[in-house]
Order: sequence, then structure tokens, then C-alpha cells
Amino acid sequence: MVQALKRRLRRLLLTPQAEALNADATYGDRLQRLSVLAGIAVPGFLVMFVWYAMWPLVAALVVSGVFLIAAPLISRWSGSLRLGRELFLVALFGFKSYEVVYFGTILSPGSAWLASVPVLAIMTGGLACGLAWTLATVAAVVVLGIAGHAWMTPRTFDEVELQTIYSIGIICLVACLTVFVFLVDYERGLAIAGLARMNETVRTLAIRDPLTEVFNRRHIGDLIAGDDSRPAEARTIRAVVMIDIDRFKAINDTFGHLTGDGVIKAVAAAIVAEAGPQNPVGRFGGEEFICLVRSPPDARDGPALAEAIRRRVSGLACDGIPGLGRVTVSVGLAACEAFGSAQAALPEADSALYAAKEAGRDCVREARPGRTAWPGHGAWPSAQAS
Ligand code: GH3
Ligand code: MG
Ligand code: MG
Repeated sequence: MVQALKRRLRRLLLTPQAEALNADATYGDRLQRLSVLAGIAVPGFLVMFVWYAMWPLVAALVVSGVFLIAAPLISRWSGSLRLGRELFLVALFGFKSYEVVYFGTILSPGSAWLASVPVLAIMTGGLACGLAWTLATVAAVVVLGIAGHAWMTPRTFDEVELQTIYSIGIICLVACLTVFVFLVDYERGLAIAGLARMNETVRTLAIRDPLTEVFNRRHIGDLIAGDDSRPAEARTIRAVVMIDIDRFKAINDTFGHLTGDGVIKAVAAAIVAEAGPQNPVGRFGGEEFICLVRSPPDARDGPALAEAIRRRVSGLACDGIPGLGRVTVSVGLAACEAFGSAQAALPEADSALYAAKEAGRDCVREARPGRTAWPGHGAWPSAQAS
């Protein structure tokens, strides 16, 4: 019931973007920015009070000003955001209430600032904190304003003095408001940029393999499914190429898994370099990769690209690892048109890969319709002389 009411209220008051931003912006950041505002207002008022020799106000503002400006530091040193925030609010509320008492009337230059206390409390502590300070502020206004004339005597000033005091108060208020609006806008900009960065990171994590940074299997699956969902004439994937590092287990066993990881990364980079940006490359499993051969502008067809990948990997310089020798890959491919779709070509390319292994490795085999797929993959035609 309460939750439902809260949800309704949120929907009424906040746009979806604002809700997202609210979650992102921390109260600590806001407290820090408010202390910047205090750094503008406190000296302004101090000069005015010194000018008119209002020494009790000077003393009160020096004490409360320390807490207003140092609140974020207090939070950091104590490890309690709440402590810094409450000291900030108590300092502002206490000083402004005292100022009203000093002037002897709620019609003092500082009384309007009391109204900012609940707003700042919500900004830095949330709704519950804001409500508590709203009650305190309303109570203060009742005591100082409505009941105040019964126990306070207004201080008398001459006309020029009064006008100057009000003018300086307004100048400080305008300066604070301007900086406040700028900071809110700046905070919004930061939050939006942060969200965009986070979205990018999440997207990268969702579609990339962490070791090789090529696409992960899920994303390759999505690309295939996306292509297959189009009408045949609008599809762009022409062939599926499966690539598997030859005798990789021996590399791991001889040189260790970290060296093995390095080899996987080097092979992935070689495949990507050969495939170019238009033909997506993914890691299908441990030391297996997949490349989706798309329509032109890349003039090469599937077999040509498969052979180019094989040749590039076998030419990899592995000088950094003495004794490693030549790293090779076996490659299987299947044309989508021959099997009806990229999804249907995938197991055929896999079977062709096994045929390439059987044919002695370091070679390319292409699946053809009518041939029996794995496990009866005896005589596969070579896609390219290898
Ligand atoms: P074949 O030529 O028939 O492909 O032989 P192979 O040794 O390459 O194939 P096998 O399937 O026997 O071994 C693959 C090995 O790859 C086994 C597994 O431990 C290793 N592997 C899988 N993922 C990773 C990885 O992320 N890092 C490392 N270093 N090794 C991996
Ligand atoms: Mg292998
Ligand atoms: Mg394998």
C-alpha cells in the first residue's frame, strides 16, 4: 500500500530520466557543492556584519561558517556523510534563526534563507531528512515570526543602513542562486555522461569476450538470428567460418595456460585483422573462433577469406616464446545460401572444421550440401588449395 503510493508519487513527480539521475548522483557530491555556495555567501555576509560592527553576528557566522564550509571534510574524516550533512544544516538553520533574533523580527535580511534549509536537506539527505527539517523550519517560523513579536524587540536602523543590509543580502542570494543553478546543471551533465559511460561499459561487457575482446558467442548468435529474421534477399551474412587452433592443448601443457592465453589473443587479433571491420569475429569456445562473412564491399568471398585467415595465423611471429614453433589453425566454412540460412550453415561449418582436422590440420574445408555432415565427414572438398 505504502509502496504503491510511493510509486504513484514518483511517477507523478519524476520523469524516468530524473529518477535514473537521482539514483546516480550521490548526496556526498551535493554536500560538497553546497559547501562551495557557503564559501560564496559566508564572506559576503561577514563583510557586511563587520562593516556595521554587528559583532555577535560576526562571531556566530564565523562559528557556523566553519561547519558550512568544512561539512564535506567532516564527512570524509569521520566517514559519516550524515554527520557532515547534519552539521551543515544545523549551522545554517542555527545561524539564520539567531540572525532573526538579533534583528528582533522575522522581517530580517536572513529569514528567507530559512526556507532553503528543507530544500537543502532533501538534496543532501533524501525525503525523510527533508521532512524532519521542514518541521523544524516551520516550528522556527512559528516561534520567531508568529509568536516572536511577543518576546522580541525589533532593532532600529536608519534607512540607508537598512537598505544596504538588504541589498547585500540580495546580492549574496543572487550569487548563490546562480552558482546553485549552474551546479545543478553541471551535476546533471556529469550524471548523464556517467550513465552513457556505464551503458557503454555494460554493452561492451555484454557482447565482448574478456580475454580476446572479440565478440562473445551470445552476440554472434544474436547477429546470426538477426540476419536470419530478415527476408532472404535482405540478409547480409554470406558464409560462416569456424576456426580452431591446432593442437592447442599441447601448447598449454608445454608452456602453461598463461602462454596459452597469449596465443589465443594473438590468433584472435590475427583473425580480426584479416576479417576487417565488416566481417564480425567472435570467440565460439576455448580456442575456437567464428567469423561471419558479410556481403560486399569486401570483395573476397568466404573461401578466400577463410584461406587468408589460415595463412595469416600460420605466419604469426611467436618469437617471444622460444620453442613454441608455428601456430596453425584448421578452418571450416559453409555458405549460407547453400544451406538456407546462417543458422543452418553453422553446424555445417563446424563439421567442415572437423574435416579439416582429419585432413591433417592447417587447412580449409568447405561444407557442400548433399555431403554427410559430422560424424561421417570423410572426403570433403578443399575450398582452396591448402
Ligand atoms: P585440435 O588440433 O584437435 O583442435 O587439438 P587441441 O589440442 O587444440 O584441442 P583440444 O580440444 O584437445 O584442446 C583444447 C584446449 O584448449 C583444452 C583447454 O584446456 C584449452 N582451453 C580452452 N579455453 C582456454 C583458455 O581460455 N585459455 C587457455 N590457456 N586454454 C584454454
Ligand atoms: Mg584445437
Ligand atoms: Mg577446439
